[in-house]
Amino acid sequence: MKNRGCVTSVIKFKFVSSTDNADIRIALNYNNDRNTYTYLGTMLTSPITNETGLLNTDQKSFNMHYGWFDDNTTDYGRNGFSGTVLHEFGHALGLQHEHKNPINSTIRVSAYISYLTGPPNNWSEANAKSQAAFFTAQEDAYYENKYTTYDPLSIMHYFVDAKFTNNNVAVGGSDKLSAGDIDFIGTVYPFPKDPTNPVDPTIGTTIYTINNSSGTPQIDIVRGTNGLISLVNRQPGNSLNSTNQKYLIFTRTKNGDWYNVAYILYSNSPLGTTTSTGITNFGPSKGESIMIERQDPGQSLGTLLFREK
Ligand SMILES: [Zn+2]
Repeated sequence: MKNRGCVTSVIKFKFVSSTDNADIRIALNYNNDRNTYTYLGTMLTSPITNETGLLNTDQKSFNMHYGWFDDNTTDYGRNGFSGTVLHEFGHALGLQHEHKNPINSTIRVSAYISYLTGPPNNWSEANAKSQAAFFTAQEDAYYENKYTTYDPLSIMHYFVDAKFTNNNVAVGGSDKLSAGDIDFIGTVYPFPKDPTNPVDPTIGTTIYTINNSSGTPQIDIVRGTNGLISLVNRQPGNSLNSTNQKYLIFTRTKNGDWYNVAYILYSNSPLGTTTSTGITNFGPSKGESIMIERQDPGQSLGTLLFREK
């Protein structure tokens, strides 16, 4: 995903081992099924019974399926690894099929559906309509669809042959995110705004403050005048709250990803102090950028609180 553009500058996926819990769980060719599909957005983590007979919430079942990958699949191009995986992760993020956008006046939908239901495709009428027909007002209400202008370059647009378009030009089937895809994902998953930077003149610059359960600022994350990071507990010896939240402080790896966990602060234990003033120093190199996430009990993914450039 990383090399395909910018979705990772908006969204960060954490890859976990097969024994760890995961929101997205992938199967290949389950029962020789050649179909490729993903549950849409929050349906991915909802108690919906899927093809395995288990719920999507069940860690033993999958909720993303690849059916046609084999030794002949290409990296790029229509139905290649790259475009297919980006498309399916688009569904996981809640993106619908772009060719179903009712603003689209390019595709002759009934001809396209006839093609999908006829040989050699032999899709059921219901399946062809759900995959290819324009969204109805009822579906818009059900899915709470949000529309952009029609984007024929979207990763979410099927390849549609020239035989089924009004201008006799084939459309869709891209293997990369379009500018429209990246913009839209950025509107659905916005970054929180950077907090203001109050200055503690005795230590350095407070770059982020964590409030305790009473809403009072308690832990300052400070960029010292020497460029190093310190955590300062304004109430030495006190923990933030009684729940077991984790505050993860990441630094960048050499290739620019945010995977190095430099420090974990547990909300239900006092900051480990190295001095009586409640300061803990930890090890990002001088001037190294940091990112802070909060992980609540039971969550597998953290919530981004702060990120330096
Ligand atoms: Zn799709």
